[in-house]
Amino acid sequence: MIIPQDYHMHSNFSCDCKVPMADMCRSAISKQMPEIGFSEHYDLMPGEMCIDWFKPEPWFAELERCRQEFAGRLTIRAGIEIGEPHIYQAEAQAMLARYPFDYALGSLHWVGKHSVFDINYFKSYPADEAFGDFFVELEKMTRLGGFDILSHFDVFIRTAHAVYGDYDPGHYEELIRPVLRNCIDNGIALDLNTKGLLIKANRMTPGLEILRWYAEMGGERITLGADAHKPEHVGAHLDKAMAIARQAGLKYLTHFQQRQATLVPF
Ligand SMILES: [Zn+2]
Ligand SMILES: [Zn+2]
Repeated sequence: MIIPQDYHMHSNFSCDCKVPMADMCRSAISKQMPEIGFSEHYDLMPGEMCIDWFKPEPWFAELERCRQEFAGRLTIRAGIEIGEPHIYQAEAQAMLARYPFDYALGSLHWVGKHSVFDINYFKSYPADEAFGDFFVELEKMTRLGGFDILSHFDVFIRTAHAVYGDYDPGHYEELIRPVLRNCIDNGIALDLNTKGLLIKANRMTPGLEILRWYAEMGGERITLGADAHKPEHVGAHLDKAMAIARQAGLKYLTHFQQRQATLVPF
């Protein structure tokens, strides 16, 4: 089965990835994938390890070089993963206005001064409080909008799983539905992020429960993202993501070019 897209991946232009862009492209081609998009971290939160790491000029130059090298074999989109776009709104919008991105992912990696990748955060707070606060912050972020795709909806479970085990989104339904409402109203697609399926958490973010609510509320826009930081993970488990999306009642994949969405049935 052909995986039609992978819109969430990193290269050595992100500080947590050592892989040249071309190696990620070759991996996609070897898996017969027609379209990928790079989404490097653009982080401004103090304490963030990738802070101010992303350099758009050399990145676009390398992207263009890859587009030429792999022309006719692979479509390469220019994405960006913006951390906390609601807090760094001016910087985020300036970045998007200045360069020809195809799409922007908005990511919530921090709740106040706590990183959701810090296991001590989850050891120090009850799950109800930490997860609840996350969704409250996510509601603010999606209400403001200004990006095209919401990254890894409930990403905290990747780290929190080691402390609390799996979680039940149903317990947070009243906090999650307003986030979905904002996404629908602002035309924000959901990133079906499969990185959590490669680890113990064994959960796609978002999973079936949240996607069912989204479809039921009239949501249609989803994109696929393996969040690969290694070539072998490009496209990983995206077949499973499509199966879960179908099960949830979703019918289209959203493709982006120059920040215009096209919905394609799958
Ligand atoms: Zn992320
Ligand atoms: Zn990422």
